[in-house]
Amino acid sequence: AQTSDNTPIVQYRPEMLASCAEYRPDYNELKLALKNREFFLVYQPKFDLPSMQLQGLEALLRWRHPLRGVVSPLVFISVAEQTGLIAAIGDWVVKAAIMQMESWQRQEGVYVSVAVNVSPLQLKDDGFVARIKALLNLNGIAGEFLQLELTESSLIEDPRRAHTIIAELRSAGVQIALDDFGTGYSSLAALQTYQLDYLKMDKSFVQKIQTRQGRSVSHAIIQLGHALEMRVIAEGVENAEQEAALCALTCDQVQGFLYSHPLSADQCLAFMKQSG
Ligand code: C2E
Ligand code: CA
Ligand code: CA
Ligand code: CA
Repeated sequence: AQTSDNTPIVQYRPEMLASCAEYRPDYNELKLALKNREFFLVYQPKFDLPSMQLQGLEALLRWRHPLRGVVSPLVFISVAEQTGLIAAIGDWVVKAAIMQMESWQRQEGVYVSVAVNVSPLQLKDDGFVARIKALLNLNGIAGEFLQLELTESSLIEDPRRAHTIIAELRSAGVQIALDDFGTGYSSLAALQTYQLDYLKMDKSFVQKIQTRQGRSVSHAIIQLGHALEMRVIAEGVENAEQEAALCALTCDQVQGFLYSHPLSADQCLAFMKQSG
């Protein structure tokens, strides 16, 4: 199929991610991709346990490469970080997510919270918080609808700065989640000094939850999150046994292929309308 200007129509399907392990784009390619608007966001739903009510979405970045098809962020985020392009790409992601919320709210009457992944390097930029607040204001979106997923390295590299940024964001209503929890190097002492809204248990723990030891470790993580007054979300939930275990361990939210793959904005809107 072709559009009138002869560009091929690539129907986006989540499983279509180009799996080219050796491919490593360079600075110029990524810069051109940004300029040519080849990046787009897909959205994966998150649900409350045990009600299974839709709780929000996580925005995940994709690159529609002119020759290679849809490229995974695992292929290009590290390059973007090493070349400094992550600042511009990260800004684009925040803007695109907020503009999508604006469109869903104004045109569809759909109010949904969207979580955006933030690279540690983005926090180094002095204007980070101000730009987010300006974008929320400009689009008339309440801060409560935006969630930022930070990793442990964001907290430990420059803790004073991280404390300031998190306090500023939270006072604007923005929710903060600690992503990939358990895979980084943050100490419990450090963790305790932060006020965070969500702890995201890494999917590697969910994958082991059906073993006796894996279940105990997940239990400990969930209890730790609750002790620190955070809600705990499990990512990478793929089967009903994992869901049952998470439910029994009082995990608060779930996300994973069991419920939905990441969806294009249109697919996601249909999903939200149908799930009420
Ligand atoms: P992440 O933040 O931990 O995101 C979760 C990843 O797990 C996503 O991969 C998602 O598609 C995948 N996933 C979701 N459900 C399941 C499941 O049930 N099983 C399994 N095995 N995987 C599942 P994705 O989209 O390829 O993203 C990979 C990583 O790239 C993300 O990991 C995140 O660290 C990074 N990333 C994605 N988008 C952005 C972005 O906008 N900015 C930055 N800085 N990083 C991003
Ligand atoms: Ca994430
Ligand atoms: Ca994660
Ligand atoms: Ca991850």
